[in-house]
Amino acid sequence: LKEEVDRMERLSLVGQMAASITHEIRNPMAVIRGFLQLLGERSPSEQQTYFRIVMEELDRANGIINDFLSLAQNRIVQKEYGSLNEILQEVLPLIWADANMRGQIVELRMCEQVEKLELNSKEIKQLILNLARNGMEAMDDKGLLRIETLDLADTVQLRIIDNGVGIPEEKRERLFEPFFTTKTNGTGLGLSLCLSIIERHNGKIQVESLVGEGTTIIVSFCKPEKA
Ligand code: ADP
Ligand code: MG
Repeated sequence: LKEEVDRMERLSLVGQMAASITHEIRNPMAVIRGFLQLLGERSPSEQQTYFRIVMEELDRANGIINDFLSLAQNRIVQKEYGSLNEILQEVLPLIWADANMRGQIVELRMCEQVEKLELNSKEIKQLILNLARNGMEAMDDKGLLRIETLDLADTVQLRIIDNGVGIPEEKRERLFEPFFTTKTNGTGLGLSLCLSIIERHNGKIQVESLVGEGTTIIVSFCKPEKA
């Protein structure tokens, strides 16, 4: 028990440190962004491209900080009874836009009635977006991303299916390690974050993948009365 308490104290200390450090970094970044925007607006048009790139990179860095923070804090989140289908429909436009730019197709197969679950909609949106983005990044312009919801006996499932490169066996066990990435521009925080979100929702995640064929990610949420 003492070891467990020690562990919890260390964890919460790390969480608190992460929160204050990220806060200290985000403030100056916001100031830099603001002034860059002003400078950009007053610059000749050929320079505006550079300002735009610099700001996009600042936003990216900010995104990494946010992901890291939600990972390190493992905070208690507010949940409300809601439908997975409804949350999915709210993020679909974002996924469609992304796929469209890549020349990929998104197919939706929603189970007509999914049982309501206790969900934090912000986190579930983040989960769906992260998984969908991984799927899209694994495919070329002939990619087909399928997103499904299923209502099974004990669980409600979300399935994200891509016909991309697949994941070789030796990488399979490292997927959920923070900072594990095979991409030049990746952060390796996406799946770690997904896993922590799923754990906060009493869910499970399964990965089925064949190299050269594609990957299916299955997230199962326990139905309330079966928990
Ligand atoms: P990132 O996307 O920033 O690399 P993630 O944690 O989201 O970080 O994913 C970690 C790694 O897992 C990826 O770099 C990639 O190698 C692998 N991966 C995740 N999802 C898929 C997928 N659908 N198809 C192929 N590889 C994947
Ligand atoms: Mg990712």
